[in-house]
Amino acid sequence: MARKSLHPETIVLHAGWRADPATGAVAPPIYQTTSYQFRDTEHAANLFALKELGNIYTRLQNPTTGILEERMAALEGGAAALGLASGQAASAFAVQNLARAGDNIVSSTDLYGGTWNLFANSLKNMGIEVRFADPADPESFRRATDDKTRAYYAETLPNPKLRVFPIAEVAAIGRPMGIPLIMDNTAAPILCRPFEHGAAVVVYSTTKYIGGHGTSIGGMLIDGGNFDWEAHPERQPLFNLPDPSYHGAVWSQAVKGLGPIAYAIRARVVLLRDLGAAMSPFNAFQFLQGLETLPLRMARHCQNANAVVDFLKCRSEVSTIIYPSVQQGVSRVRADRYLSGGYGGLVGFELNGDSEAGRRFIDALQLFYHVANIGDSRSLAIHPASTTHSQLSAEDQTATGVTKGYVRLSVGLEHIDDIVEDLDQALAASARS
Ligand code: PLP
Repeated sequence: MARKSLHPETIVLHAGWRADPATGAVAPPIYQTTSYQFRDTEHAANLFALKELGNIYTRLQNPTTGILEERMAALEGGAAALGLASGQAASAFAVQNLARAGDNIVSSTDLYGGTWNLFANSLKNMGIEVRFADPADPESFRRATDDKTRAYYAETLPNPKLRVFPIAEVAAIGRPMGIPLIMDNTAAPILCRPFEHGAAVVVYSTTKYIGGHGTSIGGMLIDGGNFDWEAHPERQPLFNLPDPSYHGAVWSQAVKGLGPIAYAIRARVVLLRDLGAAMSPFNAFQFLQGLETLPLRMARHCQNANAVVDFLKCRSEVSTIIYPSVQQGVSRVRADRYLSGGYGGLVGFELNGDSEAGRRFIDALQLFYHVANIGDSRSLAIHPASTTHSQLSAEDQTATGVTKGYVRLSVGLEHIDDIVEDLDQALAASARS
C-alpha cells in the first residue's frame, strides 16, 4: 500500500498488494504452483536457515495466500498471519503451537461444537488437557491455571450461544503469568479487534464472513506481535528451549531480526511443515475477493439482524432473544462508536412451546437455508441441539448451554422484507403442534 491506512475499508482493498510488477495486473493473481526456483545455492540455504524470508514450497508459503495473510494481519492490527486449510486447522494449530503432551490450556465453555470436540477429545488423546472455565466468571480462568497452563482460549461472539467473551478481563489475568489469550474472532470481524483488548493470538475460520459467499473452507492464525514469549521461559518451553526439529532454534530468539513474529513463524515452519494443513491458493483468492467487501457486508448483516430482532421482540412464539453488543461485551466501551452499536449478524432465540418447536421452525423455513454454517451472504438457520451439538454428551450439551428450543440465525443480505416474511411463517408453523 502506497500510504498506510488504518481504515478497514481501505486495508481490505490495498494492504499487501499493488499491481503485478511484471504484467500490471491489478487483481492479485492465483499463484497455482507447488514450488519456487531458487536464485542460487546461497539463496536456497538462506531461505531454509530463515536468514531471509521467501518462497520455498506452497505447503509452507504461497504469494496469493501471502497477500491474504498480510491483509488480515493489517485488518486486525497484528504483526503476521498464517493461512490454513480450515478454521479447525487454525484452532488446532493455535494450541499445538504452544502446548505439547503433558501441558494444558484453559478454554471458555462457550465454543463452536467442532472446537469443543477437538478440545475435549482429540487434543486430550494427544496428551494436551483442555480445562473448561465459565466466561461469566473470569476469575475461573485463574483458578483452573497451574504450572503447565500454556494459554487461555475463547470465542469473541461464541457460536452458537452468543454470550460475548470478556476479552480484556481474561487477558489481564493471563499476561502477568506469561499466559497468552487466543481469541477465535470468526463471528465478529470488523466489529471487534481482539488485540486492542489484550489478546495475543487471533483465530479465524475464513470460511464464514471473510469469504462471505459460502464457497470455500479456510482458516487464519494471526500473531498480535504483542506478547513477550521470553518473559516467563518456564511457562513457554516451546519458545524457550532448543527445537531439535530446527537445528536447535530457540524460537523466542531465532527470528528476532524479522520482527515480533516468533509465534507465527513457529506455526509456519514447524507445524505447517510437519502437519501440512495449507490453504489452497485458489481458496486464498476467493477469500481476497470476499475480504474486499467485508466492511460493507458486515454493515448490512448487522442492519438486517437489528431489524430481525425488532420483529422477533413482538412475537409470542419467542421467549428469549440473544443479541448482545460485541463491543460492550468485550471491553465495556461505548457501543455507539461502532457499527450498528457493535451488534453482529447472528441472532439466537428460544422458542416457547414443546421440545419439537425448534425442529418445526427449521423445517418450515423457505428462504433461510438450513445449514451448519454462518457468515454466508444468504440467510442461514440451525437448530444446534439436533446438529452441531448432537454429538456432545448430555453433560457437554448442558455446559455449552444449548437447549432443544434454541435456534440460531445468521442473517444474510437479502431484502429485509423477505427475511421477515420467512421468519413470520416459520414461527407460525413452530407453534402448530
Ligand atoms: N470457529 C468457529 C467460531 C466456527 O463457527 C467454525 C465453523 O463453524 C470453526 C471455527 C471451524 O471452521 P471451519 O469449518 O472452517 O473448519
